[in-house]
Amino acid sequence: QDIPVESHTDVLIIGAGPSGLMAAYWMARCGVKARVIDKRSTKVFVGHADGLRPRTLELFDSMGFQHRVMHEGSISTEANFWVPGESGKLARKGPFNISRVDESPYHNTRLNQGRIERFILDSIQEHSDLEVERDVIAESLKYDENLEKDPDSYPITVKLRNQGEEASNVPCGPSQSGSGITRNELKRHDLLPDDWDDQAQQSNRKSKVEIVKAKYLIGCDGAHSWTRKQLDIPVEGSNTDHIWGVIDVLPISDFPDIRRVSIVSNAAGTILIIPRERGLVRFYVPVHVCEASSTPRFDRSTIAPEVIRTRVQAILSPFTFDFQACSWWTVYQVGQRIASKFTKGDRIFLAGDAVHTHSPKMGLGMNMSMQDGFNVGWKIALAVAGTVKPEILATYNLERYPLAEMLLEFDRHWSPMFTDQKPPDEKDTKAAAMFDIAGKFEDFADGWKVFYPGSRLICKPGSEAVARYIVPGERLKPVKLRNQAEGGTKWTTRLLESDGRFRILVLAGDIRNPMQKGRLETLCQVLTGQLTSKQSPLDRYVSIPGCYDSPIDVVTVHSAPWKESEFFDFPEILRPFDPVRGWAYDKVWCDDSCIFDRYCDGTAYEKWGVDWVLGALVVVRPDQYIGWVGELGDVDEMTEYLDNILVRK
Ligand code: FAD
Repeated sequence: QDIPVESHTDVLIIGAGPSGLMAAYWMARCGVKARVIDKRSTKVFVGHADGLRPRTLELFDSMGFQHRVMHEGSISTEANFWVPGESGKLARKGPFNISRVDESPYHNTRLNQGRIERFILDSIQEHSDLEVERDVIAESLKYDENLEKDPDSYPITVKLRNQGEEASNVPCGPSQSGSGITRNELKRHDLLPDDWDDQAQQSNRKSKVEIVKAKYLIGCDGAHSWTRKQLDIPVEGSNTDHIWGVIDVLPISDFPDIRRVSIVSNAAGTILIIPRERGLVRFYVPVHVCEASSTPRFDRSTIAPEVIRTRVQAILSPFTFDFQACSWWTVYQVGQRIASKFTKGDRIFLAGDAVHTHSPKMGLGMNMSMQDGFNVGWKIALAVAGTVKPEILATYNLERYPLAEMLLEFDRHWSPMFTDQKPPDEKDTKAAAMFDIAGKFEDFADGWKVFYPGSRLICKPGSEAVARYIVPGERLKPVKLRNQAEGGTKWTTRLLESDGRFRILVLAGDIRNPMQKGRLETLCQVLTGQLTSKQSPLDRYVSIPGCYDSPIDVVTVHSAPWKESEFFDFPEILRPFDPVRGWAYDKVWCDDSCIFDRYCDGTAYEKWGVDWVLGALVVVRPDQYIGWVGELGDVDEMTEYLDNILVRK
């Protein structure tokens, strides 16, 4: 009989998939006492999700590992559509015109989920000693609503069971289908060296039971979420399920677009082809359609890679298709479902597949899940740290729920295109309809537009006149800037690092203009607390304990030509001095072109819709979404906005 030990933690995260790891990142960055558990014995290594959207890549840049994705991933450019031409033979239509290539520095990229998990795990380790506890399953959950309002209380009690050695052979390949390889069967050549140690690690813990008391709980435990079920939160959604086969192979084929994203459709069916890293190509193949309401649940064990191979051959014919090497395959059955709410008492939060599921061929589930984890993670981390008011936690549901609804809306349009039985017609209306849908949802899918609504965190009214394209509730559009001190260039996605701090962006305008220089100096006197009896906003709020003395960082971007301005032209508060590190050379940036970097073209103010001379004042949240916008003189209004969020000293 196991005797349970009891312990306390500030945050418990159940599930170390993409959403759980993103939330865990913030705990590591903000020095929060947290536990992350997962019932699997290892991380994912091969297969699973593989599509990364530009916004997710921007977040990775702010977390410091985007370069690893660029190094290993495969970028998808145009997509093509193949339908029978006049001769009846498959002919290429397209490409789908990706018109907004300049919206983000990053483009749709393919890299398997296991590598993404690797990068986030490494980043977590870089900043803390937080580790995922594997082979640990959550077994019971109690929530004491009476304690909800006391921020120091532990209203959550979870019983955990360490599954010990007997669990070390949990399948880590195509676990959805339950049909594949176990950890010990994984081929070493499928793994990169930094994953190999992980794979070889054997669980050496003995089975034990533990009672964990937590202040906050984040349920990131996937589509069959145990946490959601404990809370009795219902899911709503469609009853019609499609059965898909997915296969990652090294293809042997004379199909010309085998290394390009393609949709191939003929009387035999429709498949999606996605080229991947390391020569792999993924095929999404509908293998069965059933009405869930009228048919017993489909027996997925009847589908094997052979069936998927034969289906691809039939649809690609007369082009040839075969493979010898298969890295991963699965068969899945997904509905379009959304939970009725994402939180319980602003103490328990659900993220990712736990609250929304849909078909994976839009390449969005992992992206949305990671963005959920990212959104809730910083809010909980800073609330636990005592830096922000717990009231901001209500914005998680407010911000993410409408996006989950939009995700399902997209899927409701997109998925049937692959499963309708109607063969493509001569006029190619199916291709046109697909391109139309993809175009309509592009902004949303790539994450360029999120439209977070007004709240404590998003101050909506009237900033258009100051900065037309810096819109509260949207992400800050990435631009490349020149560092004033050294002349080197950097994307704002990296510059505004995800370290837990809010950023005041001082868009200083053209400081060669004496009036403007005067305005900037006045702003700086207010920021140093010299001009008013009020405490400076930089000195007004409690720290992020153990990380930063102030939860606010100031970054300046001016519009004067780089060669006509100097680092020391700027007041000291904008380039603070540290006795050990010297001047903060990384705090003053210039919107000017740079001859050796064509992305740094001196158009930041134009892209942001800001007056070249007058500039603007902007507050960017820790997750790079815009919170507040005003003029350089609007410090009182800005402080009012911050007072609503941050805890005063
Ligand atoms: P999961 O990845 O499911 O992680 C949940 C974790 O919780 C698991 O590790 C599980 O072991 C753990 N867990 C569950 N219950 C418990 C418990 N009681 N105690 C402890 N631990 C528990 N998305 C994209 O964005 N792009 C794509 O290209 C894409 N392709 C896909 C292809 C396929 C074939 C599939 C099946 C999915 C694809 N997706 C894609 C979707 C994507 O995989 C999911 O949306 C994503 O993994 C969800 O992340 P998550 O962290 O919310 O959940």
